[in-house]
Amino acid sequence: MKYYMPTKLYSGHNCVKEHADELASFGKHALIVTGRGSARKNHSLKDITDVLDSRGVSYTIFEGVEENPSVETVMKATAIGLDVKADHVIGVGGGSPLDAAKAVALMINNPDRSWEFLYENTKAEALPIIAVPTTCGTGSEVTGVAVLTRHDLKTKISMKHKVFPNLALVDGKYILSAPRSLVINTAIDAFAHLVESAVNSNADYYSLLNVIGGISLWRSCRPYIDDQDPMASKLDEASALRLMEASAIAGISIAQTGTSLPHALSYMLTYELGIPHGPACGMFLARYLELSDDKIKDDILAAAGFESCEELGVFIDRLAPVSANKEILKRSAKSVLSNTAKLKNCPYNVDEKKMDYIAGV
Ligand code: NAP
Ligand code: ZN
Repeated sequence: MKYYMPTKLYSGHNCVKEHADELASFGKHALIVTGRGSARKNHSLKDITDVLDSRGVSYTIFEGVEENPSVETVMKATAIGLDVKADHVIGVGGGSPLDAAKAVALMINNPDRSWEFLYENTKAEALPIIAVPTTCGTGSEVTGVAVLTRHDLKTKISMKHKVFPNLALVDGKYILSAPRSLVINTAIDAFAHLVESAVNSNADYYSLLNVIGGISLWRSCRPYIDDQDPMASKLDEASALRLMEASAIAGISIAQTGTSLPHALSYMLTYELGIPHGPACGMFLARYLELSDDKIKDDILAAAGFESCEELGVFIDRLAPVSANKEILKRSAKSVLSNTAKLKNCPYNVDEKKMDYIAGV
């Protein structure tokens, strides 16, 4: 058994300012990597720059990471980071800027390498990374994974290197102003991480302990994402923090086990149809779980508060409906059947018939 979690994680109200000294301790010039504007609107960017300003750390902001960040964007930010001699990288935003920040930190620290290095199986160090998430789903702040869009291959593929943030600062307030659909979509991604980590050949007592705790926490948040829940309630700062913490716990879980078939099946749908990441994974989850071992299935359903996989499927479909035609589902199923890395994370045997079933073909 192995448990590896090198990221120092803090969560709580005003987390960035509460841990100002640590945030400002990574170097002299930060490259801040962020999305297309939401980090300004939810004040996460200002919280960070206020701390850096007050501690005399200079910075350059790379703003403009797109959803499902591309290798091209990573290389653009890398060039800027090298130009300004950044000695650490701060990612702020959803999973896209956080993933991009990891890849950028790796490339800046290996300045003689071209983008192909992202996909080389070699050992390499990255610059120190601080991650401040503003969505409640990817857990990227505590994983070593960076999922990047490969336009040359027309899909998304994780870089080969595992690059964990050194520090993660989690504060629920950043999702309070987010559109409801973003909170729901990313909460479904977090749930997918928990389920895929549990139904996984790499699962062990350590990872499962984490998963069951994460699912219980996630369940306590259901009234805040489902307006048909009998206890339905408006998201407030405390529940927002709980959602972010469930997402971080889910991230810690997949950092141990990796994801499995629902994630693998999702990538083509996101690339070709633009379906957001959470719903694209969520649509396969109930059927993936249904085919798993009864014991783990029952534990997950009980912890999450569902009577059956069917009820789980209806819940996800109601909260984050996805429409994808059979042709692309079939193509995605076929390509995942030859993806040995993802297949080996699935604890049961999957032939073409089972894969089609999970894909909903
Ligand atoms: P995202 O792609 O980072 O962002 C989606 C949208 O939400 C963007 O338009 C962004 O706007 C906006 N946004 C972000 N935070 C907001 C806030 N607080 N309020 C309002 N709008 C906000 O979304 P995500 O679902 O968090 O990340 C998905 C990516 O993460 C995918 O590429 C997926 O493959 C990857 N992922 C990585 C891991 C991992 O372990 N590393 C795990 C799962 C998924 P701006 O552009 O303006 O910021
Ligand atoms: Zn995910």
